Amino acid sequence: MLALFDLDNTLIDRRGSLEEWARRFVRSRSLPPAVGPVISKRLQARAYPTDLAEIGATFGLSDPEGELWREYTEGMAGAARCLPGVEHGLGKLREAGWTLGVATNGAGDIQRAKLTSTGLTRFFDGVCASEEVGVRKPARQFFEAAAELCGMDLRLGGWMVGDNPETDIEGGRAAGLHTMWIAAGRQWPKNVRSPDVVVADVAEATAALSALAL
Ligand SMILES: [Mg+2]
Repeated sequence: MLALFDLDNTLIDRRGSLEEWARRFVRSRSLPPAVGPVISKRLQARAYPTDLAEIGATFGLSDPEGELWREYTEGMAGAARCLPGVEHGLGKLREAGWTLGVATNGAGDIQRAKLTSTGLTRFFDGVCASEEVGVRKPARQFFEAAAELCGMDLRLGGWMVGDNPETDIEGGRAAGLHTMWIAAGRQWPKNVRSPDVVVADVAEATAALSALAL
C-alpha cells in the first residue's frame, strides 16, 4: 500500500528552521532584529529564487543574483530537523512493506537537500517535488506523478498524510486517496469536508498507518 507524506511541517519542522535561518540571516547582514520575523513570514507559504531576489531588493542587499537562494538553500537544509518520532515511524512502515513517498510543493533542490540533511531520503521509494513535475498540490496530476515516482498507480489507492487541509487533504481526497490530517494543535476548518483520520502529530500518523492491515 502506498502512503504519501507532505514534507514541510509534516515530517520536518520547517517553521522552526525558517525562523532560525531568518534570525541568523538578518544578523549576518546587520539588519535590525525585527526584520527576521518579516522575512520568515514572507517565506512561510512558499520560497523560490525570485522570492529571495525580492527580499534582497527590499532590504537593499548587494548579493549577486542567485547567491541569496544558494545561501537560503544551504542554510535551511542545515537547519532542517525531523519532527519527533519520524524516523522510528517510517522505519516501522517500511518493515511492514508500505511503499512510501514524499509529496511536497516546492523547489526540488531545497526539498531534496532537506531530505538528505535529515537522513530521511533512505525511507522513501520516491520524492515528488512540485517544481520538478510541473504541477502543484492539490492538482490530481501531482498525486498521479507522486504515485508513479514511487512505482505505484494512483488508481490502486493509498494514503495522503499532511498538515494542510486544502493541498494535502482536499487534494488527496479528490485524487482518490484516504487522508490523514496532522492537527498540530489546530481545529479542522469549518465548511471543509473532514479527513478520514485526524492525528495530533506525525508519530501518531505513522502509528495509525501501522495499525492498518495492508
Ligand atoms: Mg506542510
